[in-house]
Amino acid sequence: MIGWPITFSIKQLSCKLMVLALGLLIVSCGEQDSPPKSETKAVVKVTADLVLKNAKIYTLNWPDPDEDGQPSAYAPYNQKGWHPDATTIAISEGKIIYVGDGDELTSLIDESTQQLDLQGATVIPGLVDSHVHVAELGEILRRVNLIDVQTPQQAIERAKVFETQLSQGEWLIGQGWDEGAWATNYPNRQLLDAAFPDRPVVFKSLHGFAIWTNSKALQMIGINEKSQAPVGGEIVLDEQFNPTGIFLNNATNLIKDGIPKTTAAEFEQFIADGLAKMARDGYVSVHQAGAATEHMNAFEKLRAENRLPIRVYAMLSARDKSLADKWVKKGPYTDPQGWLDIRSVKAYYDGALGSRGARLLEPYSDLPDHKGVSGDGYGFDGEIVKELMKSGFQVGIHAIGDAGNRETLDYLQSVYNEYPLAKNNRHRIEHAQVISEQDIPRLAKMSIVASMEPPHAVEDKTWAETRLGSDRIKGAYAWRSLRQANVALTFNSDLPGSDHNIFYGLHSAITRQDKNSQPENGWYPEQSMTAEEALRGYTIWATYSAFREEQTGVLANGRWADITVLDIDPLQVGETQPQKLLDGKVLMTIVNGKIVYQSQK
Ligand SMILES: [Zn+2]
Repeated sequence: MIGWPITFSIKQLSCKLMVLALGLLIVSCGEQDSPPKSETKAVVKVTADLVLKNAKIYTLNWPDPDEDGQPSAYAPYNQKGWHPDATTIAISEGKIIYVGDGDELTSLIDESTQQLDLQGATVIPGLVDSHVHVAELGEILRRVNLIDVQTPQQAIERAKVFETQLSQGEWLIGQGWDEGAWATNYPNRQLLDAAFPDRPVVFKSLHGFAIWTNSKALQMIGINEKSQAPVGGEIVLDEQFNPTGIFLNNATNLIKDGIPKTTAAEFEQFIADGLAKMARDGYVSVHQAGAATEHMNAFEKLRAENRLPIRVYAMLSARDKSLADKWVKKGPYTDPQGWLDIRSVKAYYDGALGSRGARLLEPYSDLPDHKGVSGDGYGFDGEIVKELMKSGFQVGIHAIGDAGNRETLDYLQSVYNEYPLAKNNRHRIEHAQVISEQDIPRLAKMSIVASMEPPHAVEDKTWAETRLGSDRIKGAYAWRSLRQANVALTFNSDLPGSDHNIFYGLHSAITRQDKNSQPENGWYPEQSMTAEEALRGYTIWATYSAFREEQTGVLANGRWADITVLDIDPLQVGETQPQKLLDGKVLMTIVNGKIVYQSQK
């Protein structure tokens, strides 16, 4: 099933096919840097399966803005700001066959063509989230969300609504009630029993220090009045010395260990649900940052059964030694249809900044003598990553601290020295969160892509400076400095760590403000992106980081018909009233020419 990477250029192939078969105005078949090309004549009649009309289309098929964000001279941009560069797109067999203002369209339409009037909605190249953990997203969707419930009764009401999607006997698991707020008056199992007499119910608390269960769950796990709490834990008892259904601290493990383990079928369902959610949220592709054997089994099965709703770029987990060994021998795989590419590897070099695990060159500003951990100390296996790079894989290395980033660059350079060809594989630093000024140019020189999360800047701002101090913070989340040094960027959410809502991502990148528009002028606003740069970060730049910029990422003839439709114009609104971005909605997602999501209005 798995073959070798395609070695010919899809760009050239698709251009030629388009010229021969369609002979329409070929705007550009992939060259980002060239102005529109000339017209050719039709030879064979091709009919569109789907036409999108009356749209505000931004093809993004013009060159990148300069390093300060100034749009290219070819961009549909003037003193009045942004304006769409097309109104109509026609699609046939998964590819775009026409983009323009509707002239010449009639020759592509017959009674079999589905025509959609988009009534002025905005059309952009399909969104890509280039760093996700999609199984976790799917798993959360199978749990009752108890965040912000005020009373136990409210928790039960939410669970009752949720229960309708569960099968008979399936465990009802929730998460998010506030153990701090309810600590003076915990609820009991009888409350849950009244609502759920026959189904095992487990509600985990917000911070994981408490669990509330019903009697059915206790019975199935085998907990009764004789059960002993482990050291550091408490089974809360009633006046008759029976468990009340509340477990505290280490005693929560009695319940966690008793919940049925996830089966392969359930795991596959988590992945399918997570991907379906991403389709609903406007994404046409995700990069799974760390795909272990169980992920790969699920992805490959869904691919074989044609059940992937969106495209997947699987970054193999370097921590899964047997999987890594297997792929060292096989080498990278590029899916001819682009549904499941397996040509990248995810590794971890250091920890996170919030928990002070990220490796810094100098001690933490708020913890003297502590510099964090990295490399061997963080389980980075330089040997297996080198073998994979040698075998042709791209590697995406998680690096957060300035030392973590420098050591990662040193490591990659050492591999380049041994295997110069490895430099061609667009290696990525995942997060690239804090970088010493002197290391920034090295990323460009080493052709490394900085894979970054705009939401992290606005979520971490309250404590990041405490960790780093006023000097080092200038090299943190430094998108503009990276662009000015000619470093390629890709933007993503690291979901479920951050909300993957595209409007939140764009808003974070453009304003450097949180959802409440704080701080007033943005946090280190000199590092902000323009609306165009933000949008490119989630489209064409993201496709570059996965070697797919010649098949997708812009809307042009011959490209995959991967399209997102929005109810607001992210360029006009993003430039003039970025706060309003947060009100935006995804109206439609099209992958490979098929509508995989359409809003109900
Ligand atoms: Zn991640």
